[in-house]
Amino acid sequence: MSQFDIHTLGCGSAKPTPRHQPSSTVVDFRGNLFMVDCGEGAQLALMRKRLKFNRLNHIFLTHLHGDHVFGLPGLIGTLGLHSAGGEITIHTFKEGKEILSKIFDFFSRDLPFEVKFNIINPKEEEIVFENKSLTVRTLPLKHRLPTVGYIFEEKPGLRHINRAMCDFHNVPFSKFGSLKSGEDFVKPDGTVIPNNILTAPADPALSYAHLSDTAFDPAMAERLNSPTLLFHETTYLDCNLKEAIARGHSTASQAAEMARLSGAKWLLTGHYSSRYTDDNLFKEEAEKIFPNVILNREGLTTSLDKLK
Ligand SMILES: [Zn+2]
Ligand SMILES: [Zn+2]
Repeated sequence: MSQFDIHTLGCGSAKPTPRHQPSSTVVDFRGNLFMVDCGEGAQLALMRKRLKFNRLNHIFLTHLHGDHVFGLPGLIGTLGLHSAGGEITIHTFKEGKEILSKIFDFFSRDLPFEVKFNIINPKEEEIVFENKSLTVRTLPLKHRLPTVGYIFEEKPGLRHINRAMCDFHNVPFSKFGSLKSGEDFVKPDGTVIPNNILTAPADPALSYAHLSDTAFDPAMAERLNSPTLLFHETTYLDCNLKEAIARGHSTASQAAEMARLSGAKWLLTGHYSSRYTDDNLFKEEAEKIFPNVILNREGLTTSLDKLK
């Protein structure tokens, strides 16, 4: 199983409280850090979690509301003090590039690394990052201004060699690579040994979908592709449904309904409105619709490979 951890730095909404700070999440995929949103205080939360700044090379912004962005100038400035080169890519809309590059040019001149921008079209699904083991794609959301969610999908791994069966059939070591890729083994006399006799299935590919901020939209469910963990904002409780709709946000039961419709294994709550003082109510409301609910909080680490 591979490392695929979700670190919650902030899970409050626009108004900070002593209990919650604004939105920021870090995905640790096999030692590489990917940040989703950078609300105020994110860099301090990174330090508290002992996540290494030099492993952070990609920052994905969901939208240009301040509670998702205001921590970025500070973080980039601090990275300038730590870094010895390299580059960092900020994935955002063209307006984001225009605003942020002006701020960086003024406050963070002569950075020892390059800040790159990857411009996203908020109206279309697109792959914004890909390497040999991970894909990150966007999903347009429904909010008061252009917003996208991000879906992190591990690529399917290789099958596992069944050493005892391989020895039994005298499979040479040189064939193990093709067996892991799913090929059958053909003996010198022409006998075919099917792959499923010589190997066990690959570990299931894990995935994390991050949907914030958004109104509830059941049409999104099929685009999520049954994520292992779905973060869906739970800004409100059902008693404030009208306000959720008016503000382009969701309630805990709507997030749970999305988890159910999408085939997610687990739901992670968050983006809590400051009006509520008991976070347990989000979990209780969601669990009436979907059983596997993780109550989010600052400092939480959720390891996808440990979710059953
Ligand atoms: Zn927000
Ligand atoms: Zn927003």
